Amino acid sequence: MRNLTLSFLSLLILTFALSAQLKENVSPATPILGFSPAHAVTEHQIESAFQSIPSPDKARQWHRTFTAEPHPAASERNNYLADFIADAWRKQGWEDVTLRRYDVLHSRPRSISLEMTEPVPFTASLREDAYDIDPDTKNPAVSGAFFGYSASGDVTAEVVYAHSGNPEDYDLLRKNGISVRGKIVLVRYSNPYSYRGFKALTAEREGAAALLIYSDPAEDGSTRGKVFPDGPWGPESHIQRGAITYDYIVPGDPTTPGWASVPGARHIAPEEARSLPKIPALPLSWRDARPLLENMNGPEAPKDWRGGLPIAYRFSGAVKVHVKVDMDTSMQPYTVVEARIRGSELPDEWVLLGNHRDAWVFGGVDPSSGTASMMELTRALGELKQRGLRPRRTIVVCSWDGEEYALTGSTEWGEQFADELKKKLVAYLNVDESVVGAATTAGPEGLSFSPSAVASLAPMLVEASKDVRAPSGKSLYESWRATTMRDSKASTPPLDSALVETRIGSGSDHTVFLNHLGRPVINLGFEGDYGVYHSMYDDHYWMSHIGDPAFEYHVALTRIWGLVALRLANADILPFDFGFNASALEQFLRELEQTNKIEQRRLSLKRLHARIAELEKAGGVLRDAVARDLLSGSASPEKIQRLNEQLLQVESNWLDPAGIPGRPWFQHLLYSSRYTYAHLEFPGLTEAVEKQDWELAGQQAGLLGKAVEKNTRLLKSARSSWEKNKR
Ligand SMILES: [Zn+2]
Repeated sequence: MRNLTLSFLSLLILTFALSAQLKENVSPATPILGFSPAHAVTEHQIESAFQSIPSPDKARQWHRTFTAEPHPAASERNNYLADFIADAWRKQGWEDVTLRRYDVLHSRPRSISLEMTEPVPFTASLREDAYDIDPDTKNPAVSGAFFGYSASGDVTAEVVYAHSGNPEDYDLLRKNGISVRGKIVLVRYSNPYSYRGFKALTAEREGAAALLIYSDPAEDGSTRGKVFPDGPWGPESHIQRGAITYDYIVPGDPTTPGWASVPGARHIAPEEARSLPKIPALPLSWRDARPLLENMNGPEAPKDWRGGLPIAYRFSGAVKVHVKVDMDTSMQPYTVVEARIRGSELPDEWVLLGNHRDAWVFGGVDPSSGTASMMELTRALGELKQRGLRPRRTIVVCSWDGEEYALTGSTEWGEQFADELKKKLVAYLNVDESVVGAATTAGPEGLSFSPSAVASLAPMLVEASKDVRAPSGKSLYESWRATTMRDSKASTPPLDSALVETRIGSGSDHTVFLNHLGRPVINLGFEGDYGVYHSMYDDHYWMSHIGDPAFEYHVALTRIWGLVALRLANADILPFDFGFNASALEQFLRELEQTNKIEQRRLSLKRLHARIAELEKAGGVLRDAVARDLLSGSASPEKIQRLNEQLLQVESNWLDPAGIPGRPWFQHLLYSSRYTYAHLEFPGLTEAVEKQDWELAGQQAGLLGKAVEKNTRLLKSARSSWEKNKR
């Protein structure tokens, strides 16, 4: 029997909480993946007690605190918030509260300007307008327009409009006889979406002298609906700040690629860093970009290059600007706050929770919605611990710093504790933004629940969603199905197997754990209309009037986050499903073949298909055998422990220490991200196929096949030792 140390008092409290919760919620007899029937009953009781703690009012208070002032990385306010979180966690009963300091290369603006010199003079404001209704917008600490890690520079040159700034856009310019060499390229955000750091690298490769990225109303402004402060979309002066780091090559402190920036660490010179941009770049509101676009007199751009402004969009002609970017790029301390609740039985198996703290401005959505949900989660878990309900495994929580710059805090922390994490980390549960959308415009079904997870954990996530209530009044599971149907305009509900997004890109703090350390990850959040990303209007007013006025999505997120954490922390057998994992891999592989129309004579993937089929079988057989024995209670604790170790090893076996070709830091054979941050499955194989490098593709398919085979062997041997010594 596991040591849940249920005191008489805690049982009393539990019973009380249960009478309030359970009747509208879950039957205690409902099985849970990975739990014996008896332990499932206890787990449901713990979860009911847990779910009754988080409160919308408290979430609102946390949110107000975190969004009260701008708090970018390395600012005084962000450092104050690190201490504030550490204090709160101590008061909530968390253990080993520690501040980890990393000295990293940071970047902030000294002075920034943009003027049009021809054909008519114009000076860009590079500022966002204040609104009386939202006093926060008058805060003098709000920055103007800048990009983190932009190069400094002073450039006067002709402007060329290059649509989204993706490689195919430059191809079209070339076809029209237009070169961007030595010129200033003006591009818009997101059509189709690509990370701004990819636009910067592309402009640099094309020989541009500087890059301007503006927010077109067609993407996140008035074309989409009502703008701030009347609606969720961006007003004319909103500026999408952000970093343009090449962290898809290597994230973290650019001067410590692959190792931690702990005090005394070796740093390379910034000039040697592969992740630092070489040309100056600036974000613009459409109000500042419009005079530049409007005054061009060259050939008109094609229809799909036109945005939402009532002007002719042209390639180039007549417009010259002077851009001056002076950045202070210097070493600054970043702080990761860390705390834990030590596990009662398996303290050396960790479930890690995390959210970043730093924001470009107030961070109403990004990240303080996630921070508010996290603080309610830590409050609830702390309270369970105070009542004597300690989890079996250790739960660790981290408040990351500098995520916005290069996923820096989580990357440095992950690199510092790499060896330990590879052995101990069961899973990392990331929440960046918990509510990235407006409940007020979402319609009756509400915001979309939009998690992503490694495929092996998708089934347990779906199962947990059945026991959480969504703000729509339905279970989160039912609400998830309804919004998925709505969003995909499907006429039938989705299969459970299609609910979780199992394709995982980069762009948040899960990256180091998945791609570098080979640990399983889950990202959680709600989505909807949102057009003020990284602008000053992403603030408390936006959230409390437009986004989640009742703060009930914040709390729903706290609940699902907590349930997944508690199940991973308390399960008898870790609820990984490698049969399902293999079926997802088969799907990835089929998509790769179809998208690239791979010819058999170039590359045969038959053998890889066959190996994945064997993995699927081995995973399924083990899963079913284990479920059967858990039900009958016939497994000994020693056997269970041995099996859990083997299950954890499966995830580690997807790592290739050599890394993917050209990006050695990214070591996962199944998951990586493209330079655009988009998800990329079988990264080494896919990139080789896309380059039509068939020899490399063959090698990569071989590597993958070996890893699949290794895991099939492991699952088979896990099953035979499981079956052998019954009891
Ligand atoms: Zn974020």
